[in-house]
Amino acid sequence: MYDYIVIGGGIIGVSTALSLITQNPDKRILLLEKENAFGDHQTGHNSGVMHAGVYYQPGSLKAKFCKEGLKETIKFCSTHQIPYNQCGKLIVATSDEELPRMHDLYERCKENEIEAEILDQQQLLETEPNIQGVGAILVKSSGIVSYRTVTEKMAEQYEALGGEYLLDTEIINLKEDLDEIKVVSKNETFVSKYLICCAGLMADRMVNLLDIKTNFQIIPFRGEYFKLPEKHNTLVKHLIYPIPNPKLPFLGIHLTRMIDGSITVGPNAVIGFKREGYGFVNFSFKDTFEMFTFKGFRGVLKNHFRSGIKEMLNSFYKRAYLKQVQKYASSITLKDLRPYPCLRRQGALSMFVTHPPQLQLQPYLLVDMSLKKQKRHSIS
Ligand SMILES: Cc1cc2nc3c(=O)[nH]c(=O)nc-3n(C[C@H](O)[C@H](O)[C@H](O)COP(=O)(O)OP(=O)(O)OC[C@H]3O[C@@H](n4cnc5c(N)ncnc54)[C@H](O)[C@@H]3O)c2cc1C
Repeated sequence: MYDYIVIGGGIIGVSTALSLITQNPDKRILLLEKENAFGDHQTGHNSGVMHAGVYYQPGSLKAKFCKEGLKETIKFCSTHQIPYNQCGKLIVATSDEELPRMHDLYERCKENEIEAEILDQQQLLETEPNIQGVGAILVKSSGIVSYRTVTEKMAEQYEALGGEYLLDTEIINLKEDLDEIKVVSKNETFVSKYLICCAGLMADRMVNLLDIKTNFQIIPFRGEYFKLPEKHNTLVKHLIYPIPNPKLPFLGIHLTRMIDGSITVGPNAVIGFKREGYGFVNFSFKDTFEMFTFKGFRGVLKNHFRSGIKEMLNSFYKRAYLKQVQKYASSITLKDLRPYPCLRRQGALSMFVTHPPQLQLQPYLLVDMSLKKQKRHSIS
């Protein structure tokens, strides 16, 4: 009998387990992960940005957690000698039409008490000579880190404090009664007083295992990334983001400095037909059926039909993808968009969609583990 079982070895599951064992050293805690390593999905393959919390609704938990999370992440990295870089971020307006939205975002920074600065065209040019725009917001506190490294370090700490874990253990069933919960994998049944699910893209399916009706579903999107050649590693000093389109749930194709010194470009957001299937042509009948029979998804399709088609075209036609990048980085050419050297996976985005619509659409990140598809990389 465990006191707590945590399902999911991404950053959320591992940090939850670490927090539990730190606060309850005498309790028996078990962390279960279906892959053979920690951080193998969203956590290990996102852009690695330590966000300042610019976009979030002032006063919301997201706004609060993001700010606190940034401080805690830096503290954790400093304590454990994990490399990070507070390189700052520029949110660039590329046309006069985007200026009002840029100013709205700046106001939001102020409301969220995030230090930010407006740069005019000349100041932008002086700050980032290779970036074109009519203005920008500079957020100095944003940074970069490897979240996989952070998660691995947390797992190490958790184990050192007496926490137990099992990898390669997929949970396929849950049975709850008043006193305990049975957590069932293919080979074993674990029993616990409490269960905490941190299953990322499978979160809704975990809830369904308990026969609880939900009004949300995870909808997979593939996010395709490229990597710039090494000679461009010094192209920008900051993370470069476009002004997001408020009608869309994604932030738009951005230039991300990675902690290894490289720069990635991406992502777009193309609808996926398989959960955790991140290759170019993955298909799962079950996942696709579930998606199309979910009313919330049909609502998303209706509202974002045009942009969805555009994203698909960009996926097939690299020049259209490039055009979006060239809006603010005109020196990048077609041959600079190189396959991202993903370690194991291509990546995918997904959306958390409710019906009736209640929550803001939220993007999640996933990455595909196959070494085979090196040509077209996708991550967050
Ligand atoms: C486009 C995009 C970019 C992003 N970029 C950033 C960024 O730059 N900075 C940032 O802070 N955040 C970023 N994120 C968000 C961040 O990646 C996620 O919020 C975070 O990684 C989620 O962690 P998690 O532990 O919930 O999920 P995951 O890392 O996906 O972990 C879930 C784990 O649960 C396991 N699991 C699932 N089902 C089962 C089961 N049945 N049995 C056992 N185990 C199971 C999975 O194998 C997986 O390891 C980005 C997201 C998106 C969409």
